[in-house]
Amino acid sequence: MSRLIRNTVCTETLAMRFGDQLHRVAAATLLIALAAAALLGEGHAGRLPRAAAASPADEVLFSANGEYAFPLAGKIADMAWTHYHWNGGNAVDILASPLLVASSAAFRAFERSPAVAVTAGIVSRADNELGGTALVIRGDDRREYYYAHLASTWVTKPVGVRAGEILGMVGRTGRWTQYIERHLHFAISSRWHQGLRWKNDINAAEWIRAEFGLGWIDQTPKPYPPAYPRGSPLHVPYRLVRTFAQVRAQNPDLASIELAPSGGAPAGDGARASGGIVGGGAAVYTTLTGEVRVLRGTVLGLRIQVTNRRTNQTVVLSGLARSRVQTGDVVERGGLVGYAAGPIDYMYFDEGRLADPVPTMGGRG
Ligand SMILES: [Zn+2]
Repeated sequence: MSRLIRNTVCTETLAMRFGDQLHRVAAATLLIALAAAALLGEGHAGRLPRAAAASPADEVLFSANGEYAFPLAGKIADMAWTHYHWNGGNAVDILASPLLVASSAAFRAFERSPAVAVTAGIVSRADNELGGTALVIRGDDRREYYYAHLASTWVTKPVGVRAGEILGMVGRTGRWTQYIERHLHFAISSRWHQGLRWKNDINAAEWIRAEFGLGWIDQTPKPYPPAYPRGSPLHVPYRLVRTFAQVRAQNPDLASIELAPSGGAPAGDGARASGGIVGGGAAVYTTLTGEVRVLRGTVLGLRIQVTNRRTNQTVVLSGLARSRVQTGDVVERGGLVGYAAGPIDYMYFDEGRLADPVPTMGGRG
């Protein structure tokens, strides 16, 4: 399948619609559009041309007939989504590829991805508790397209857009239980609706494949029982290095507690196996039965996120030196997930809301 890559962003319109900060995005877009016009020809089936892959952001991918645009601008090879939404529905969560390290330039470029109009129509705000800053496009094709978790948008009242026009920036507003990363929740309905009564009858991943020739990553949801977190991720005596309130005072969006084995940082690789401290690191256990959703290197070290989608509970363990699990694995509470060489950060999302995990830890580890 061949497809056309071009950029139709009108910088004057954007300058009017965006504030100062996003004006810079518009300027970058113009540069890249000019470069793209000079360098890009037709794309190859299944991959972006080299010139597109080398540019950091803002290329818009269009369908072969030019009617539809991929909902996020940027380097699509660094993005990932699954066939079905995590709850089994037809939406997609488009996030940075699980292969990207969170401190990498490619990951940071994804976090600046603009959301663009997939087709011509009227775009309106659809903010809500789950989706955060959200938009709906009533397409000229009589379908509806829903965008959620945006960090920002210029849309304040219903307004006409064309395919490929920037609508806002990818973010993590609203509840984002399944992924703590910025991602775009995108859903398609075959007809117009009032309010948020979605039909979501069109599978968004299949639509992306049909229009753009892009496949999904294979991650079929696996069965496990409903559960809530209980106990400590460290089975040795530990101390609270930093409390939830202390961390939240610095970063309200990503508050955690910091735990360390109370014997201090474990010794190096020659350490004897004893008391849960083996082979150069403290053993770290999941406190929640569920599915490993995202396993990624971060500035805090390796991060393991376990979600129970039956109860909308998520625990996130960061700062590990090694992992014993893979993305997509089902893990049981108390199961070994990896090893930490120093303190670990422990986050807890209760139905998508950040909460202090200490009350779930039962007074000791
Ligand atoms: Zn979603």
